[in-house]
Amino acid sequence: MDMLRRDFLIGATALAAASRAVAQGRSGPLGYAIVGLGSYGLDRIIPEFRNCRHSRLAAVVSGDPAKARRVAAEHGLGERAIYSYADFDRIRDNPDVDIVYVCLPNAMHAEYTIRAARAGKHVMCEKPMATSVAEAEAMIAACKRAGRKLMIGYRVHFEPTNLEAMRLARSGVAGRIRYVRSEHGFVQRDPSKWRLKKALSGGGSLMDMGIYSLQAARYMTGEEPIAVTARESTDRRDPRFAEVEDIIDWTLEFPSGAVASCQSMYSANQNHILLMGDKGRIELEPATRYSDNRMWTGADGREQAVVVPPGAAATQFAGQLDHLADCIATGREPIVSGEEGLRDMRIIEAIYRSAREGRTIRLTPGSRA
Ligand code: NDP
Repeated sequence: MDMLRRDFLIGATALAAASRAVAQGRSGPLGYAIVGLGSYGLDRIIPEFRNCRHSRLAAVVSGDPAKARRVAAEHGLGERAIYSYADFDRIRDNPDVDIVYVCLPNAMHAEYTIRAARAGKHVMCEKPMATSVAEAEAMIAACKRAGRKLMIGYRVHFEPTNLEAMRLARSGVAGRIRYVRSEHGFVQRDPSKWRLKKALSGGGSLMDMGIYSLQAARYMTGEEPIAVTARESTDRRDPRFAEVEDIIDWTLEFPSGAVASCQSMYSANQNHILLMGDKGRIELEPATRYSDNRMWTGADGREQAVVVPPGAAATQFAGQLDHLADCIATGREPIVSGEEGLRDMRIIEAIYRSAREGRTIRLTPGSRA
């Protein structure tokens, strides 16, 4: 079953499947250890456990002991639920932790995913999955060897507006899909941020925000690209961009003849997906925010807002967290598995290569660019 059909099914049946898991005798929600108490792990993910039905916070991993103790105390966790990066491997002895959620800078994703798998834990890893294809493959291999699941934090696959956009694209409401456009970016002001240090980020706006544009091109068309042509535009005199790219544009060609024109940048705020078919358009703006995403469909200036009912989960974050717990309980593969992250890493490597070499790169599904 392809990625999109699985997305629709999950959107519709997540709760039913989760309830079945409980009925099959699993006792209580699965425990997550959050690794990296930064803006995403601490401010966005941890508060979401209150909206979960099958997941709970079980441990925290941090380089800041005072912060870790404060967060643990706020969530009723004892001393044995607190880990540093140095003693992280002790987590293997903690039966309360079923899943390790890696919310660290990109270049640390591979190491902590592999260490978590070796400790016998399932893994949720933030996007981008890794900083290279080689790392992504090693992460998948480590989880396979350990018999543990690996899911990537592609939250929009649990976000009702994006799920409805995928369904509408498949339903033919826009006709034959000819063109997708997607731009994502924000103004990155602070040159000291790890996102601007290549050794920690692996790359610039493409790794961080462009991955949303790339995902959108793939899930809106439902196809895998066969060629990529990219161009980077970065003012290297700007101290923020000494190491990583600012603006990068790339075109993807799909087997049906559809094309996608994508962009990411660190010098303007944008968050947009547009699909054009021979009967009309599906447009989202903002498209992939944490909340309040909006969508229109129609043609020839008669576009109308689409009101999307809330999904099965309380929020996209709770849906994502509970999905992995449910997959573990029921033995299914996550809809956004390690392999799905690897597909993006292969295309990202090809985008960088195309921009560097100034030529189109042909892609063979399943192979390195
Ligand atoms: P932050 O900088 O806010 O937090 C990263 C945390 O990682 C730090 O607070 C720190 O936690 C830990 N850390 C360990 N080593 C380092 C280091 N050398 N430099 C910096 N931090 C370090 O980043 P985010 O939380 O915004 O991003 C984390 C991951 O989440 C990234 O991969 C990012 O792409 C992803 N993300 C995903 C989003 C989504 O919507 N899916 C949105 C935002 C981010 P501590 O102090 O506890 O040690």
